[in-house]
Amino acid sequence: LEKELESYRDLPAETTDGHLVVLRGNIELSQEIPAVIAHGGEGIGLFRTEFLFLNRSEPPSEEEQFKVYRDMVQKMIPAPVTIRTLDVGGDKFVPEINLADEANPAMGLRAVRFSLKERRLFKQQLRAILRASAFGCTRIMFPMISGVAEMRQCRALLDEVCAELLQENQPFDEDVEIGIMIETPSAALVADLLAEEVDFFSIGTNDLIQYCLAVDRGNEHVAYLYEPLHPAILRAIKLVCDAGRRAGIRVGMCGEMAAEPLYAPILLGFGFTELSMNAACIPRVKRVIRQISRQVGVDVLEQLLKLPTAHEVNRYMEEDMAHRF
Ligand code: PEP
Ligand code: MG
Repeated sequence: LEKELESYRDLPAETTDGHLVVLRGNIELSQEIPAVIAHGGEGIGLFRTEFLFLNRSEPPSEEEQFKVYRDMVQKMIPAPVTIRTLDVGGDKFVPEINLADEANPAMGLRAVRFSLKERRLFKQQLRAILRASAFGCTRIMFPMISGVAEMRQCRALLDEVCAELLQENQPFDEDVEIGIMIETPSAALVADLLAEEVDFFSIGTNDLIQYCLAVDRGNEHVAYLYEPLHPAILRAIKLVCDAGRRAGIRVGMCGEMAAEPLYAPILLGFGFTELSMNAACIPRVKRVIRQISRQVGVDVLEQLLKLPTAHEVNRYMEEDMAHRF
């Protein structure tokens, strides 16, 4: 099997009926880029920038960030690098910058909420990302967006930063794509409205599941309730994919759910054209995609959406799907 998986590296993730999916890598450090390339990843679908801010007393300067982002973007040419703005707080607690006294940090000053409060830091990061965009295909992604108003605040700040860079004659890609993570229930529910505001969505199932099902993603006592195939999750994903399709924007997934080969037919059914995951998971997901048709996925999903519990959805997948690949 290992040999077989290796042979997929330079082949497209294409279904037997010609539906193409782009598989990208999730990374936390730029040193992971060679592994993404070695596993056949086409670009970076999620760069978690918070790791640049960990284990140090001072946040990285604009210049330091710029160099990291530029090097990554250059290494991935011509494929895109999706840089997610800082997502600290919640399960990504950074003691040097996060508030220590939040009773409920997962619902507190996390991710883009933190950035919009610490505007100086936020602008520094946006400047660094935009400057890197002059060197290769770069995308900007905002985490934990909860609605249109928050997105517009980010957009306004981004416009401010662009105007500054223009004035300083600093080169950047004026058409850089702007997207958001869909990882809160409110974002999923207003996906039709958000789709008018951005170039792409990327569903973050790690948090979407946590918040939709009200199950702490890191709490072992309720881990049995953390069910990716819960009917509520399938419906939430469908809402987002349908809204994206209607608005004509790309919808991808970068949560752990994208990395599970057994789920690949379901994700084909939803119509995803981009999936991003840890590099090591790419070949197995590609293998499944190359073995089935998109139509199988569409048919399976139609059946799954009728089932009332995650248990039944799982059983259907294991009994009716697993034998196909
Ligand atoms: C997610 O929430 O699914 C996601 C990809 O982001 P993170 O795991 O970094 O919160
Ligand atoms: Mg998340």
